[in-house]
Amino acid sequence: MPGKVYIVGAGPGSADLLTLRAASRLRAAQVVLHDDLVPAEILELCTFSARVINVGKRCGRHANSQERINALMVWHARQGKTVVRLKSGDPAVFGRLGEELDALRRADVEFEVVPGITAASAAASVAGITLTDRRAASTLVTLTAHTYREEKLRARGFDPQHTTFAVYMPGPDYGRTASELIESGVDASTPCVVVSHAGRVSQEVRFMALTALGSVSGIAAPAILIVGEVVRQANNMQESQAEIFPKLRAEREVPIANEIHLAAN
Ligand code: SAH
Repeated sequence: MPGKVYIVGAGPGSADLLTLRAASRLRAAQVVLHDDLVPAEILELCTFSARVINVGKRCGRHANSQERINALMVWHARQGKTVVRLKSGDPAVFGRLGEELDALRRADVEFEVVPGITAASAAASVAGITLTDRRAASTLVTLTAHTYREEKLRARGFDPQHTTFAVYMPGPDYGRTASELIESGVDASTPCVVVSHAGRVSQEVRFMALTALGSVSGIAAPAILIVGEVVRQANNMQESQAEIFPKLRAEREVPIANEIHLAAN
């Protein structure tokens, strides 16, 4: 009997942010191939007999190339094993899922993808903001400072006034990330928040204007950057900073009943 590969999202790094399905796939796994970002707390859900292999890029003397990871998934599945390929966050967001699915399809190996909570969602919840808001941001762009071809951030072509940018892998050069966003048309005064270790006990949240991003230091990886007017919603933002967001402030002052009335029309 050929095995099956479950590509499972581990969420942002705390066991209680795993889906029930992810936990059940992990408990049933005979082989687990996991990334560096997946913490021990989650790996503890595997059974004692499971073979748990760190295939993270930072692990071991030889680099775990994508080809090697693909080959390991296929090889173990062909031995009839139930394999879990465990990735941080959601496997479909900056997780090389496409390359892994290509390899499984080419090898004719059965698979299932289990979604997870992506870092942007975890960070927004920690910062007390939303990623979209019908009053302020109708577009959500997820992008990364580290592309396959090492190109610049692809933040052009959006209306920066109504867009939230969730920048994965924004460091270590936060100054460069900020400059590239500003060059793309995002105003330097736009509020932003850096959330490191979102959803874990060690989480840290820092609010600032985009222009100040270059001078931050000591941000522990993994961290994500969220830029846009929605950041001003956070309760911890100073009242003076909220002044720069008059539109949302004005609407906040509308009584709830009024808002329902307007929506009904
Ligand atoms: N598939 C993952 C993203 C993998 S890319 C997801 O959906 O979340 C790795 C990047 O994700 C990190 O460099 C960081 O920008 C972000 N990230 C992952 N976990 C995070 C966490 N707990 N807190 C903040 N950012 C995180």
